[in-house]
Amino acid sequence: MYCVKCGHQVNEDDTFCPACGAKQVTTYTMCFTRNGLSEPVFIANINQWLYENPKIANVTCRFETDTSFGFMANQYKLNQFVIEYELFKHDNQNQYFLAKEEDMALYQKNVRAYMEKWKQEHPQITVINWSGGIHSRGSTGSILLGGIGARNRMNVYIFMKFPRQQMN
Ligand SMILES: [Zn+2]
Repeated sequence: MYCVKCGHQVNEDDTFCPACGAKQVTTYTMCFTRNGLSEPVFIANINQWLYENPKIANVTCRFETDTSFGFMANQYKLNQFVIEYELFKHDNQNQYFLAKEEDMALYQKNVRAYMEKWKQEHPQITVINWSGGIHSRGSTGSILLGGIGARNRMNVYIFMKFPRQQMN
C-alpha cells in the first residue's frame, strides 16, 4: 500500500503515513432508496445494515425527503438516505441508528425547538444530523384550519450514535 498523500509505502495497519503523517483513510458511500417500501420497513432496513456493519465510523448522512405540497396534503417523507463513512479495523464502540419521530403539530410548531428539547431529553445520544417538516395525511381541513381536529403531524428523522452497550 502507498500513502494517499505522498505515495510513500505504508503498512496495511498504519493509520498514519510514517513519512508525511497523513491519515490513511478511505471514505465509502452507501445510498438507501425507499423505492415504494413503507417507511417503517425502509428505516428498519437501514438500521439492520448499520447493525451488521459495526466497523463503520465517522459517518455523515444526507436526507432526501419528499416535500411536495399538493392542494390536499403536504408531504414530508424520507425517500433516500445517503451515508458516507470510514471503516475501522475493529468494531466501533458506538452504534449508529436512524429514528423517525412523529409529533402532532400545528403549523406554527418549530422543528428546531423540537430537536433542542429532544437532545436535552436524550443526553447520552449524539445527534449527527436530522431533518424534519410538516406532514399531513389528507383532509383539506388539516391545512386550511392549521391543524385543528386534523391529522397534521411533524415528521422528524434523526440520525444518531450512542454507546453500543446501551442497545436494548
Ligand atoms: Zn505520506
